[in-house]
Amino acid sequence: MARYTEAKCKLCRREGMKLFLKGERCYSSSCAMERRPYGPGEHGRRRGRKPSDYKLQLREKQKVRSIYGVLERQFRLYFAEANRRDGATGENLFNLLEKRLDSVLFRMGFAPSRSSARQLIRHKHVLVDGGVCDIPSRRVEVGQTVSIRTKSHNIPQIVDSVKANAKRDRLPFVEVDEKKLEGRLMAEPQQSDLPIPIQENLIVELYSK
Ligand code: SF4
Repeated sequence: MARYTEAKCKLCRREGMKLFLKGERCYSSSCAMERRPYGPGEHGRRRGRKPSDYKLQLREKQKVRSIYGVLERQFRLYFAEANRRDGATGENLFNLLEKRLDSVLFRMGFAPSRSSARQLIRHKHVLVDGGVCDIPSRRVEVGQTVSIRTKSHNIPQIVDSVKANAKRDRLPFVEVDEKKLEGRLMAEPQQSDLPIPIQENLIVELYSK
């Protein structure tokens, strides 16, 4: 499976905002955006010219791709599907991305980040409606249950993540039983529920050219 391998903190610095790609580190003072809140590389501190519309659109799209860990080709497929559906394309796009199994697992707090969720899924630690699923992009439908296999309950990555997330607010579209390590997708994810501000209209403009 192709995946993005560049340093994750660089992605946040390039976008000028925390994208929360590294789990607990993102909430600590070790976060690179706390220590070096400017772009990466030699010219990172330079104040550039006013960005063009194209640059703003491109950056917004790259930001969303980085958050969800989706490669360009796959992202285009999600956009095409969002465009085919009834309703606002931007809203549909976030709905599709949030319903990926890796994203749902992360939102339930069973993994510290989406990349960590992908690893747990690939290693067959995750069940969907009681059956093993090792496909991170699998779409979880409303009402379906996502859980951790009993024999994987003591994996430190999972235990630590559940502990850390117990202190945080959960998003309204998931319900979690932390003791059983089981959760359910309760409603269609809406963009307004999400904690990171994204201007989805810029992405729609970019792909509509
Ligand atoms: Fe981004 Fe997390 Fe790195 Fe901070 S620690 S720069 S939020 S990936």
